[in-house]
Amino acid sequence: MADFEIAVIGAGVVGLAIASRLSEKRTNLVVLEKNEKYGMETSSRNSEVIHAGIYYEPGSLKATLCVAGRDELYSLCRKHNVGHKQLGKIITATNEKELNQLEEVYRLGSRNGVELEILDRRRALALEPHINTVGAILSPKTGIVSAHELMDHYYHAAVSNGVTVQHHCELTGIEKSTRGYLLTVKEGGQTSTFTSEKVINSAGLYSDRIAELAGIDIDKAGYRMVYAKGSYFSVASSKAKLVSRLVYPMPNKETLGVHVVLDLGGRLRFGPDTEYQDDRNFDYRVDDTKRNVFGDSVRRILPAIMDDDLAPDMSGFRPKLQRKGEPEKDWVIVHEKERGLEGFVNLIGMESPALTASPAIARYVETLLA
Ligand SMILES: Cc1cc2nc3c(=O)[nH]c(=O)nc-3n(C[C@H](O)[C@H](O)[C@H](O)COP(=O)(O)OP(=O)(O)OC[C@H]3O[C@@H](n4cnc5c(N)ncnc54)[C@H](O)[C@@H]3O)c2cc1C
Repeated sequence: MADFEIAVIGAGVVGLAIASRLSEKRTNLVVLEKNEKYGMETSSRNSEVIHAGIYYEPGSLKATLCVAGRDELYSLCRKHNVGHKQLGKIITATNEKELNQLEEVYRLGSRNGVELEILDRRRALALEPHINTVGAILSPKTGIVSAHELMDHYYHAAVSNGVTVQHHCELTGIEKSTRGYLLTVKEGGQTSTFTSEKVINSAGLYSDRIAELAGIDIDKAGYRMVYAKGSYFSVASSKAKLVSRLVYPMPNKETLGVHVVLDLGGRLRFGPDTEYQDDRNFDYRVDDTKRNVFGDSVRRILPAIMDDDLAPDMSGFRPKLQRKGEPEKDWVIVHEKERGLEGFVNLIGMESPALTASPAIARYVETLLA
């Protein structure tokens, strides 16, 4: 018998959601996390938006798991007192040309089953008097969530179901064995091994590397990721009450655009921008010299914000399968049976909206293992 039935690699929101879900019916699970605590990487460096599911290719995992996950997330938050608020969101067209695009976004969202409403300028301004708009979409299902409280919930649910979450424990080797997988880990300078029947790779920014450790040619498989840094600037508290909903510009091919982010404490931020990286050197500092560029983007949607109102805040890195200029790519969530890796599930390219979709992703992984 293997030491564990399932080893989950990575204790971000996705790994924790999976561990919490799978441990409802199984008892022998371990989660490996290289950092001192869970959720210290992308899962705590994002907009904390509960996305409604508007923008994604209909039928894709992103679209279906976002729409399902959003509803599950709202009920989970209500049931377990996880901080959240269904604020709603406005997507604003700032000129006549963008009105055509507004229609496209509306049609795409509707195809994904998202409840949306088109607003003329007067109605948009009645909801958000300070925005720049010639017409807008209202998405009432969009909201915000405390990512930390959500991860605390998943963590405690998993631990109370008997899951071992091993912090400071980095997976460094995977070998297929008769009892499933032989996993090598580095823990406080010591190397050790154990076996697990199944392995779930939810290692976020490093998930392509973990797939490589399992012997997959990640270039051939199309699993090699690129990273796009997203920085945020916070806004002086005197201007934090200018909006009461999330406000987004028209999306472009690669991003949703620098948008207004509100958190549960009433803080207002703008971001994230998109800066593709040439390497895996994750430098989280926010470059203050971007203030003017941010100011220009922000004023497109909220003209009262001056450059001096902005201060560098935080940043995060998107683990992407889509290279610069390419069309959007879906998440990879695959049981790798066909590569001879029975019991090995890869989750790669888990960029937004994986926080929103986390409960539905966990359910999907459960079906892959059934
Ligand atoms: C700027 C930005 C804004 C975003 N905004 C939103 C949003 O508003 N709404 C939304 O739904 N989504 C959003 N997202 C996306 C969301 O944050 C991510 O999709 C989600 O957090 C991914 O979670 P994860 O668990 O896959 O990855 P992570 O949080 O990165 O967790 C992976 C974990 O694996 C661990 N790990 C890696 N390698 C190893 C190893 N070898 N051994 C052990 N442990 C390992 C890491 O330490 C890490 O803790 C945003 C992302 C970014 C970057």
